[in-house]
Amino acid sequence: MNTIELLRLADVDVRGKRVLIRADLNVPQDDAGRITDDTRIRASLPAVQDALARGGAVMVTSHLGRPVEGRLTDADTLAPVAARFGELLGRDMRLIRDWVNGGTWHASLTSGDVVMLENCRVNPGEKADDVSLAQQMARLCDVYCNDAFGTAHRPEASTHAIARYAPIACAGPLLSAELDALGRALGAPRRPLVAIVAGAKVSTKLTILRALAAKVDTLIVGGGIANTFLLASGQPIGKSLAEADLAGEARAILDAFPNKVPLPIDVVCATRFAADAPSQTKPVEAVKDDDLILDIGPRTAAALGRIIAASGTIVWNGPVGVFEFDAFASGTHAIAQAIATSPAFSIAGGGDTIAAIAKFGVADRIGYISTGGGAFLEFLEGRTLPAVEVLIERARGATAAR
Ligand code: ADP
Ligand code: MG
Repeated sequence: MNTIELLRLADVDVRGKRVLIRADLNVPQDDAGRITDDTRIRASLPAVQDALARGGAVMVTSHLGRPVEGRLTDADTLAPVAARFGELLGRDMRLIRDWVNGGTWHASLTSGDVVMLENCRVNPGEKADDVSLAQQMARLCDVYCNDAFGTAHRPEASTHAIARYAPIACAGPLLSAELDALGRALGAPRRPLVAIVAGAKVSTKLTILRALAAKVDTLIVGGGIANTFLLASGQPIGKSLAEADLAGEARAILDAFPNKVPLPIDVVCATRFAADAPSQTKPVEAVKDDDLILDIGPRTAAALGRIIAASGTIVWNGPVGVFEFDAFASGTHAIAQAIATSPAFSIAGGGDTIAAIAKFGVADRIGYISTGGGAFLEFLEGRTLPAVEVLIERARGATAAR
């Protein structure tokens, strides 16, 4: 049930075929260009390994950073990524520049070969989802495989238009796994379904709240979002992070779903935003004008922990406090622990959420951790991801290959 109807790489016979894999290898680097976290490279290995093992001739590409189209600079090159990818794969990874029109490297590519194609965001027309660029790229391959969930929300030539023109267009294992996990959590979830939406990005996440409020049994809010809800319910929040102009929106959600959104009953405050600021735990009614609410209090954490323990499915995005500062990390720690020990299927995503999961050492007890920040949030918002939509269209035969 519940799985999205699209063609998967595992179901495509790739023997003797040229396979172009669009991965998300956009890894963080330090000033010297050294890779500081290779999670995305590791996550992208299975697609390449599978296509190679089954006799495909593999080309893999990705974007890296935000290059200017038409100009490859030292900061934009995939060279360090190709080196790391090769190390993990246990073989040489040749990096091809100016690859869009093919060439001798392409003509000589045979079964079992693998090459990396330079930063695809350098190609003019990539961001604009340009049709002629997409057609040129499609001509390089027999099979196009999108394995880049992290960019699935952006229609670009290598994530979207190319899927219309490649002879075969399919989803890679990472993209498939993301869609399966998200579908399982939000499609026909085991109830109660609990969503935790917190963090600092108040305005962007209010749309997610609106979409989730109708679907979930409990909507737990935290961080700046909880502050906006407290404001909406008439509680004092002092100088806390919030968006006063969205209090009406928060009020509307509280009115429409009266028992779904538990608000904090106690909070941890400080009068400055700093790691060494003295903290004070107090009931929410006692927040003063010069207070900053920087975490949920222990009574709130315990109450939320009980809801999480009794849930069937949990979706988590956003730390409930400033977990980077130890004095304000307890709430997020408690939530992470409650999710880890709950028998519920859990899915978590978001850059800082993943950092919190790592900090509290619960990664292996989360059901699924999404690799795509923006794409994960847009999925939660209920938006269709263009790169996924086009693969579904192709699977339905709605879009004919060239
Ligand atoms: P994610 O990256 O997981 O989507 P966000 O970027 O929305 O999450 O929010 C994460 C940030 O929110 C963290 O850096 C955290 O310190 C901050 N934050 C959480 N609660 C508060 C709060 N009460 N006041 C200010 N910042 C907060
Ligand atoms: Mg963030």
